[in-house]
Amino acid sequence: MRTSVPGWAWFLGVGLLVAAPYPWLAPGLLQQCWYDGIAVVGTAAMAVGTRRNRPEQPAAWWLLVVGQGANVVGDVLYFMLPDRPSPAPYDLPYLLSYFLVAFGLLLLLRRRNRGGDRANLVDSLLVATAFALLTWVFLMKPVVGDRSMALPAQLITLSYPTLDLLLLALLAWLLTTDGVRNVSFVLVAVNMAAFLGGDYVWAFADHALYNPGNLGSRLIDCTYLVAYLCFGAGALHPGMAEIGRPVDLDRVRPVSVRRLVLLAGATLIAPALLAWQAYRGGGRVPDAYPIVLGCVTMFLLVVARMTMLVRQVHAQARVLADQADRLREVAERDPLTGLPNRRAWNAELPSALRRAARDAAPLSLAVLDLDHFKAFNDTYGHQAGDRLLEETAATWVANLRAVDLVARYGGEEFVALLPGATEAEAVALLDRLRPLTPMGCTFSAGVATWNGLESADELVARADRAMYRAKDAGRNRVEAALT
Ligand code: GH3
Ligand code: MG
Ligand code: MG
Repeated sequence: MRTSVPGWAWFLGVGLLVAAPYPWLAPGLLQQCWYDGIAVVGTAAMAVGTRRNRPEQPAAWWLLVVGQGANVVGDVLYFMLPDRPSPAPYDLPYLLSYFLVAFGLLLLLRRRNRGGDRANLVDSLLVATAFALLTWVFLMKPVVGDRSMALPAQLITLSYPTLDLLLLALLAWLLTTDGVRNVSFVLVAVNMAAFLGGDYVWAFADHALYNPGNLGSRLIDCTYLVAYLCFGAGALHPGMAEIGRPVDLDRVRPVSVRRLVLLAGATLIAPALLAWQAYRGGGRVPDAYPIVLGCVTMFLLVVARMTMLVRQVHAQARVLADQADRLREVAERDPLTGLPNRRAWNAELPSALRRAARDAAPLSLAVLDLDHFKAFNDTYGHQAGDRLLEETAATWVANLRAVDLVARYGGEEFVALLPGATEAEAVALLDRLRPLTPMGCTFSAGVATWNGLESADELVARADRAMYRAKDAGRNRVEAALT
């Protein structure tokens, strides 16, 4: 058996194979062309995928394509300039790239969350705030305090971790949103994670030491290559068209324990930092450890309280859903026979007509009325009458198909909807039901087949008139309606 490998998988597989030897290439022109070539091909694949897969929000995807393109321009310039002043020419395309990619992602996510998913946004902001704190302490404060740097250099250097934070917040939002999670979604998420991972490793590894000749630097380059290839493959995958599809609000997942643990972990980063600084500062912050302990305890208590609230809300939602089910049951079911009542019938009939029109299938409808039921009541008592109604309903339901619908229209009058049945078939069916009526009773019925034009009311009225003709003709018979 031959299974064909889809284009995006070919692209990713071959791309990763081609990228694999990159860290071991000798520094020089070949190595640079190798890197830039993969970056260009990855970006070109995004453009091809965006054209071919026709996403619902092409603007967002084109922003991502142009953003990656700007990043490639930055990479080419970076390799071409051996000494790297700050600000340097490559800073412009690099910074532009962050903005374009962030804007593209924002458009995608806004559409995905058109239902108004504020909760996931707040969760991702919480995680991003924890990272912002780390970024400030470890990446930004040292730059701000560096008196040897000129202001423009400082500003440019600070803008990278700031924009990384923006992308990180967007990645967190992407990962927390409800909605489709297909291969393309995963590839886009891997792209962002690889890109951010490269940026953070590079930032912490002191980029003054960056040198394409050293293996560590080239391994960092590899994370960017993986990012380019994943973005390309993600755009080639047909599922990319659905990433921005608005979330179906009914299918929003409830808050998970994992999410609460993640949020608790993020909130604990602040006291952890304080503890670390108190430890290194040797007691310069008075009462640092009691404050840390207090913060940790309070954060955990708040999370515990939140968990209880979430549980309470879920329990209440379940009670409300049960009540709604029961109300619907009461509102739409006849308590004596257990059949749908007139209200349910009225709600169902128009959609049955629409279905019949769509499928170009016949649809017949019958009105059934027990004969001399008043006399039965008078003779055997009201309770016996009730039992007759119950048993009659049960007999009919047992002898009709699952797609047929019998409802109690009122008193001893019933209606039956017979989808797919022609007039002759419906008449034959009801004639078969007639002798089955319990306790020696009979019924009269009128059958009308929908002409495709009349309203639901007109159709019922026709069947009703046919039923009265059956009564007039002596009862215990089925009459087809006049057209
Ligand atoms: P016809 O053959 O012309 O239909 O005569 P009928 O006696 O069946 O018709 P009529 O409309 O005169 O009487 C209907 C009776 O059905 C009157 C009413 O008391 C009885 N009925 C209506 N609902 C119920 C019910 O829920 N239980 C019982 N036991 N009787 C009911
Ligand atoms: Mg009757
Ligand atoms: Mg009647």
